Amino acid sequence: MKNGPGRSGLIMEEPLLWEKGKKGRNGMSIPESDVPAAPLADELCGKGPDFPDLSEVEVVRHYTRLSQWNFGVDTGMYPLGSCTMKYNPKINEQHAAAGEITSAHPLLDDKYCQGTLRIIYELQNFLAEITGLDAVSLQPAAGAHGELAGMLIFDAYHQDKGEKRTKILMPDTAHGTNPASAALCGYKPVGIKSGPRGILDVEQIRELMDEETAGIMITNPNTLGLFEENIREIAEIVHEKGGLVYGDGANMNAIMGIVDLKECGVDVLHLNLHKTFSTPHGGGGPGAGPVCVVEELKKYLPSPRVEFDGSSYRQMVDTASIGRMHGFHGNYGVLVRAFCYILTMGAEYLKKASQYAVLNASYVKVKLKDHLYLAYDRPCMHEAVFSDKNQQENNVSTLDIAKRLMDCGYHPPTIYFPLVVPGAIMIEPTETESLEELDTFIEVVKKVVKEAETDPELLHNSPSRFKVKRLDETQAARNPCLCG
Ligand SMILES: *Cc1c(COP(=O)(O)O)cnc(C)c1O
Repeated sequence: MKNGPGRSGLIMEEPLLWEKGKKGRNGMSIPESDVPAAPLADELCGKGPDFPDLSEVEVVRHYTRLSQWNFGVDTGMYPLGSCTMKYNPKINEQHAAAGEITSAHPLLDDKYCQGTLRIIYELQNFLAEITGLDAVSLQPAAGAHGELAGMLIFDAYHQDKGEKRTKILMPDTAHGTNPASAALCGYKPVGIKSGPRGILDVEQIRELMDEETAGIMITNPNTLGLFEENIREIAEIVHEKGGLVYGDGANMNAIMGIVDLKECGVDVLHLNLHKTFSTPHGGGGPGAGPVCVVEELKKYLPSPRVEFDGSSYRQMVDTASIGRMHGFHGNYGVLVRAFCYILTMGAEYLKKASQYAVLNASYVKVKLKDHLYLAYDRPCMHEAVFSDKNQQENNVSTLDIAKRLMDCGYHPPTIYFPLVVPGAIMIEPTETESLEELDTFIEVVKKVVKEAETDPELLHNSPSRFKVKRLDETQAARNPCLCG
């Protein structure tokens, strides 16, 4: 497809502003001066920066075009598994930007910011109710940060019992941040292989769990998109040996209002507000990873939290708090988005959102399983994990498929994760995609699978429609070019 100027809104060969500028063009008019001109001191009259001269519309078009080189959930379906790239209603952005909220100074005395504290207090309670756990701190800034808080709580708990535990059980499906957070707290991750059904095997946990092990980190549903059905039995084994159960709640989008994590035996859990509760993410923007705990661990929560004494809201520090995880109140703007999202959805629609997320993933799974190899052929939750096993005979890999999907107008799914599935293609459609959108996506994937047989070169040479083509991804990570 030709992408020359005038043919498409997407102009890839956009020149630099310096190449476009023409001396004398102007983007603004300054009112005529009503005071006499005065000479500037010589030292202020050096050669100014070399800015190009452009009209307003040239600048607007330039930046609008650059912005269209990007892909986001506002542009099209973003089936990036494990990330819950769902559509975030714009009204939550508006509330987070409200003057009453953005102008509240974080050092105000409690009595002058009752409204903003009330949002924290009520959100703490909402998240407790949604997860089934007893107490919540909103301080951590992201999922990994919540995990770190959770591991510090594990450590504080064991220390209070006069124990020094050194290991932690870590399923092979865990997100990479899990072992990293545990290691930061001095725990040695002990790997657990998932069973043949893609979930944890109780007997293996029974063998590995001992009194030197602080506990286990479980993601449920796990990163294969499968529900850890044995979680209660596993929790009992861990608790019997004096350990704690950490729940990685990043995949909460599949189970909101459906699964009670305390009933499952989870002691500490983090949520990713930027995945499940309406904060746009990707590109490293602000997030929030609240940490939720059972009553017994409440006293260790990061502080300050907010309490209500019947007449006013106040910040308080728990008796054995692990301390601050963030300046002031955490990433407050993210908390406001989550608060608004939960209020607009209500219990009924939060539950429905999860049900649709699971339904959509199941639909994609069923429709594509005769085309792409399905790693575990059993009911999935919010995401379905395929692989390139069927395409290998044509020398086509997961990477080729992902790059070709970009040419077809989609953000690629997550690839090569989780590591337990070689050449994984992990698709998470989320609840906000319509049936027509899902059908179109499914047709496109089928077309790409067909092309892999008939024209593998097409896939090897993808993407072809972009400013940059096949990047050397290792070079980019090892040798980043941060200028020009
Ligand atoms: C995203 C994710 C994390 C880490 O969350 P961040 O907010 O990116 O730090 C942890 N575990 C799982 C399963 C995830 O999907």
